[in-house]
Formats: sequence, C-alpha cells, structure tokens
Amino acid sequence: MGLFTKPIKSLDDLFVHTLEDIYYAENQIASTLPTMIEKASNEELRDAFRHHLEETKGHVKRLERVFEMSHQSVRGVDCPAIDGIINEAKEVVGDCDDETVRDAAMLSAAQAVEHYEMTRYGTLIAFAKQLGRNDCVSVLEETLVEEKAADARLSGIASHNVNRKAA
Ligand code: FE
Ligand code: FE
Ligand code: ZN
Repeated sequence: MGLFTKPIKSLDDLFVHTLEDIYYAENQIASTLPTMIEKASNEELRDAFRHHLEETKGHVKRLERVFEMSHQSVRGVDCPAIDGIINEAKEVVGDCDDETVRDAAMLSAAQAVEHYEMTRYGTLIAFAKQLGRNDCVSVLEETLVEEKAADARLSGIASHNVNRKAA
C-alpha cells in the first residue's frame, strides 16, 4: 500500500481510488497543456491542444461532480503512469531540434495521454455500472466521448498535416 493511500477492500473502494487517480491525471494534463500550446508550431495542432485544454477543465469539474454524487471528498492520488507519460514526452520533445518533428513528438505524446484516459474512464464506467451507479455512468460517458474525439482528431491531424510536414 502506498503512503497516505487508503486500503482498498471493495469494488466501491476501487471505484473511488480510480476516480482519485484520474482526478490527479486530469489536473496534471490541465497544467501541462499550456506548455504544449506554447511549444507547438503547427497552427492546427495548437488549436486542437487549446480546444482540449478547455475540455480538460470540464473533465476536472465533472469528476468533482462524481465525487459529490458518491459522497466522497474531492482528492487526487499520485498517478505514476500519467507522470511517466508526461516526463517521457518532456524528454523526447526536449531532444527535438526541428520544430516540425517536435510537433509530431508532442502529438504522439498527447495521444498516449488520451489512451491512458480512455482506459481509466472505460474502467470507471464498467465499475459504476456494476455498482448500480447509473448517475455516475452518464457523467463519465460524457467525458469518455470527448477523450475519444480528441484522440481521433489528433490521428487526423497527424496523418494529413503534422507527420507529413515532419517527413
Ligand atoms: Fe480528460
Ligand atoms: Fe494511474
Ligand atoms: Zn484528454
């Protein structure tokens, strides 16, 4: 068991732990995206990051609602997975000399983040369904739809724009 974390004894506890994990991750993403917007040289990519930053702030708000609906205090727990994805991205991006290649690196890192989020929301939705928490299911699904759309938009930008320019 990690330091300062609560024991996980039931699926309910695991649901709350996963909420705390993604709450931490969403906050890390919200604080990293402004740097990515600054560093992106491609206008379309920058626009996608800007749009997703606004959505991400909404994801944080929705999670706060789910905590409240679950009668839990709003808190995050360290998520070494998202920290790892972000740190790896910073290293790779820092090693890119060419701005078009840097854009491709940032885009691919952003997709790694989206996929992490998609697994977490997918799991939270499955747990909430099992626990009969349909009120939570619909709120979590709103965010999952936006994460998937963000990922699909990035795939499109990669293939028709950013990767081409980097090649
Ligand atoms: Fe998100
Ligand atoms: Fe995590
Ligand atoms: Zn996202």
